[in-house]
Parts: sequence; structure tokens; C-alpha cells
Amino acid sequence: MAVPGLSSYGRLVIKIGSSLLIDDAGEVNGDWLTSLGKDIARLHAAGADVLVVSSGAIALGSAALGIDRRRARLGELQAAAAAGQVRLLNAWERSFSPHGLTPAQILLTPDDTEDRRRFLNARSTLAELLKRRVIPVINENDTVSTDEIRYGDNDRLAARVAQLVMADVLVLLSDVDGLYDADPRRDAGASHIAEVTTIDAAIQSMAGETRTATGSGGMATKVEAARIATRAGCATIITLGSRPNPLGAVDAGERATLFRAAGTPAAQRKQWLAGALGVAGRLIIDAGAVRALAEGGSLLPVGVVGLEGDFNRGDVVSIISESGREVGRGLAEYSLAEAACLLGAKSSEIESRLGYRGRAALVHRDELVVFADD
Ligand code: GLU
Repeated sequence: MAVPGLSSYGRLVIKIGSSLLIDDAGEVNGDWLTSLGKDIARLHAAGADVLVVSSGAIALGSAALGIDRRRARLGELQAAAAAGQVRLLNAWERSFSPHGLTPAQILLTPDDTEDRRRFLNARSTLAELLKRRVIPVINENDTVSTDEIRYGDNDRLAARVAQLVMADVLVLLSDVDGLYDADPRRDAGASHIAEVTTIDAAIQSMAGETRTATGSGGMATKVEAARIATRAGCATIITLGSRPNPLGAVDAGERATLFRAAGTPAAQRKQWLAGALGVAGRLIIDAGAVRALAEGGSLLPVGVVGLEGDFNRGDVVSIISESGREVGRGLAEYSLAEAACLLGAKSSEIESRLGYRGRAALVHRDELVVFADD
């Protein structure tokens, strides 16, 4: 059974590992990357938002600086990543430019996706890039990451990115064509799993058995990434990356494993917001703002008449009408002190009130759940 075509998704995160992108001599697999660029351009031209999570900085930089990756110290690997990241983005630019596509480099550390304040920053930059039809090319910020503060592998990073941008599908290009119930390299009778509805202990143990020796990038980390993504409402596909046009191959019905999403990204996000414990503060809003929220708008400072509690940017706040009804909940774009300066401000007054250029909303509509008026 084939997985649904990739053109059925509106926002895709494609994860590419170093072993697909870089050959043994430390050079980019140019022909393969050209074919992948074509695949991405086709999806993009059909209207999809595409984000790429690409490894390869350390492999490319090690070759360029003459560093032996297997014996290198942390500082040497970080230096290699710094030099290699430039080459990596150049390679992506070469693969995109025939199609008129522009890549944009984003380097993340776990704080950028786990800390809610920084999560909002990363999310709004990515949203702006996607609005401009640019293709974010994301990697871990290896030059400042150490073992204690790492995603650990780019499969997990890609899952966090999928969650951050509320992607519909995460595609993990792998060295195998999906999940098997035993290691297909050792067991000729291993059978391929085309579709996974729930990632339970049985699925996790299948992945454990097919883990590759390198640890990073094995099937277990891919299934863990699928678990993070599917819980956030994002389907996950594991497919063979090493063939030319690997995304086209999924559309052509080649073998892959689909992990079905639990709900949609928006529904999962709203469910999380609605149930969020630890509401840090309350924003009291006027009738005009209640109407604006009911119509799907963001909460602007102009409609806020009172503030309670103490909150920072990224904290969950409860939004209350003047009659005392909880209208909704969302993530505060501003701290209490900033929000106090902005009380009742028109959008054009935000910069002069704060003394710096701020954001338009106090709570952005994407980070907001509005409760029904009953
Ligand atoms: N961020 C690393 C690199 O670009 C790779 C990490 C991984 O693939 O898991 O070289």
C-alpha cells in the first residue's frame, strides 16, 4: 500500500542526513541534490510551504579543514561546523537557483524550541520567511552546542521544527525505505510496515531492533521524531533517500512508512493551549476585542483595558471580557511590564510607547484558543 502523495500536504518539513548529502570524500552529492531541488521546487510551485532540515556542516567542514571527524575534539568539530555550514548553504543555493528559489539559513539550539519566549521568536521569523516564499534551511547551531545542550540528532530537531511551524508532514529521508518488524539487513523475512496509527511499545521495539550502529540517525531516533511530530498533529513519512528524486518516488508510490497524525496541527495546538496549566496572568479586554477574537483576529493592545498577574513573553495568559467571562487563552507576546505600557495603544503608537519596534499583537491569533460564547 502506498502512502498519500506529498502534494496533498500544505506545509512540509524535509529532513536530510549527512550520509545522503555528502560522499566519502567529503564532497556534496551534487547530482542527487540537484534532483532533490527539483522535487522541492515542484511541491513549492504547487503552493506548498517547504522547510528543509539539513545536516552536513560537520562532514563538509571537516573535509575542508583537514579534520579527522572520528578523532576530533569538540572544539575541532565546532570549527568544522562553522566552515562547513557556509558550504552547505552554498550547495542548497545551487540546487534551488535554477528554480528561482531562495534558501535562508536558520541555526537552532534546543532553547529556541523548548523555551516559549524564544519559540515565539523562531516561529515568527519562520512565518515571515514562508510568507515570502523563501525556503528555510535549518540545522543545529553546532558551533555553540555541546553534548549537554544538543537536540542530539537532526531527526529530533526536524520534529521540533515541524511542531514549531505546525507542519502537516515531516519527511525523514533515510537509508532504508521505512520501518520493518525486524532488521531487513539481517532477516530476510522482515516485513515492511506501510502505516502506523499509534506509536506503541511494539512499534518502538521494532525500531529499537533496527537501530544502526552509529546511534545518531538510526530507526529508533526516527520513530521518536515521528512520535513528537504526530502528537503535534503532523504526519511523518520515512522513505529511502538515496535514490534520485526521493520525494517524487513517494508520489510515484514507492515503499515508505506513514505515521498518521493525531488530529490536525491547529487542533492539537489549541487543545494544548486550552488545557495549559499555570496561567500566569489575565488580560481584560473590551467588547470590540471580544468581537475581533470571535472573528479569528489577534488580540491587539488597543482592546486591552486591564492586566492582572505577572507574566513574561511566552507565558500562557487568560483573556477575560469586561463581564468576567474567559474568552480564550494564548501565549503573551509581551511581558506584563511591556503590556502595561501598551494598554489601549493603537498599533501606530507601539514603537513610541515601548521605545523600540515591537510586535503588533499582544496575543497572536496562531497562539490563541477562543472559547465558544455560551
Ligand atoms: N548538525 C550536524 C551537521 O550538520 C549533524 C547532526 C545529525 O545529522 O544528526 O553536521
